[in-house]
Amino acid sequence: MTGEWAQQRSWVESANDPACGFPLASLPWCVFQADGEARIGVGIGDSILNLKACAENGLLDGLDKPVRTACCAERLNALMALGSEAWITLREWVTRLLAEPKHADEEARARQVEKLLVKQRVVSFAIPAAIGDYTDFYASAHHARRVGSLFRPENPLLPNYAWVPIGYHGRASSVVLSGTAVRRPRGQQKGADGVPVFGPATALDYEAEIGWFVGPGNALGTTVPISEAEKQIFGLCVVNDWSARDVQSWEYQPLGPFLAKSFATSISPWVVPLEALAAYRVPGPERAEDDPQPLPYLQSATADVDGIDVQITVALRSVRMREAGVAPMLVSRGNLRTLGWTLRQMVTHHASNGCNLRAGDLMATGTISGPEVGSEGCLLEMRATRGELTLPTGERRIALEDGDEVTIEASAQREGWPRIELGSCTGVVLAAESMRGALGV
Ligand code: CA
Repeated sequence: MTGEWAQQRSWVESANDPACGFPLASLPWCVFQADGEARIGVGIGDSILNLKACAENGLLDGLDKPVRTACCAERLNALMALGSEAWITLREWVTRLLAEPKHADEEARARQVEKLLVKQRVVSFAIPAAIGDYTDFYASAHHARRVGSLFRPENPLLPNYAWVPIGYHGRASSVVLSGTAVRRPRGQQKGADGVPVFGPATALDYEAEIGWFVGPGNALGTTVPISEAEKQIFGLCVVNDWSARDVQSWEYQPLGPFLAKSFATSISPWVVPLEALAAYRVPGPERAEDDPQPLPYLQSATADVDGIDVQITVALRSVRMREAGVAPMLVSRGNLRTLGWTLRQMVTHHASNGCNLRAGDLMATGTISGPEVGSEGCLLEMRATRGELTLPTGERRIALEDGDEVTIEASAQREGWPRIELGSCTGVVLAAESMRGALGV
C-alpha cells in the first residue's frame, strides 16, 4: 500500500480531517441499531454507511451473492466466515463507493450513497458478532514479569514463558459492549486465618488489551500455519478484561483464572481490519541473544512487519470527578508493539493442537504493558511501580471503587498518515449485588 492510497480523499468531508480517526483508509466494521434493528455498517468520517441499505439499493450489485447476503445480517459472523478474500473485495468495493468521484456517473452514485449514511453520534451500537468462544492471552512479557513478581517474587517469569504464548479459555457469555455498567463480583478471597471469606471483591481492576475477531476459522483437527495466520484475523477492537485480583490470587493455581475474570469483559464497538493498519506495521518482538528463539511452527518469515504500532491509553474518572465536571484522568499509555508474542503467533499456537477456531471467536492479547513507568495496563502493576494513584480530587486508588469509570482507547498514529481509531471501551463499576440477591434467598 502506498501513502497516496492511504490518503485518498472521500466525498464524506469529515473523513478527510487527518485527526478524525475514520479516514477512507480505515473503514472499520460495526453493528448499529437502525429502525429498531441491528445493521452492519462501515465507519467513515463522522458517519456510518448502512451496508444492508446499500445491498437493498443495488449498490453492492457486482459482488457475489453470499457477500451481499452477509451484509444484510444482524451480526458480522457470516461475513467473517466467508474469508479474507471476500472481506477484502467488499472493503475495496466500499472504498470506491466512498472515494471522491472522478466521473459524472460516480458523482451520481455518491449522491445515492449519501442517503444511506447515518451520523455516528445518533446511533447505538451492538456486539458486532455472536461470540462463540473467548480466549485471552498473556502476551506482554513486561506485564507477565511485573505481575509474576507480585504473585511469586522468587520466580516472576516462569520458564515456559519464552516458549509458549500463554493463554486461557475465557467466558464468551459475559462479553459486553462498551458503555455497559459492570457489577462488582462477589467471590472467595483468602482469609486472615487461612479460611477464605466470600464477599464483594475489594481488589477490582481493569486490563487494557487489544482483541481480534476470528474468521473464517479452521476445521477441527487441522492447524493454521503461521504464514496463513493473519487470514484468520477479521479485525481488531479494544478490550477491557475486568479482573478481581483478590479472587484471582486465591483461585488461580493450578489451573489459571476462573471466576476472577469471567464476570465481565468489555469490548469497543468497532472492528478495524488489519488492511487498515498496513501503514502502521512494525517489526515483531526482538528477542535477547540469550533468549531462546521460538520453535519452528512459531517462526514467521514476515517477522519484520508482524508487530502493529497501536497506542492504547487508559483514563479513570471517579463519581466525585464526574460530579465536579473534572475530565477523566489519563493514567497510562502503552503500545501493542511492545508485546512479546505477535497476533500471528497467538493464532497459530491456538490452533496448533487441531483446535477449531470459528468465525466470531474473540481473542485478546492480555494486558498490554510496556517496560517504562506510565505504560502499565492495569492498576495491579501501577501499585507496584508507582504506589497509590492520586486522582485530581485527592482521592486515592489501588483498586477500582464503585462508580469509577474506566475508559480504554486505542489508535494508530504515524507522521504524515491519518489517525486510525480502534475505538473506545468504557464501563462504570456498579456496587456488588446485595447478599440476598447474590445467594437467591
Ligand atoms: Ca487479561
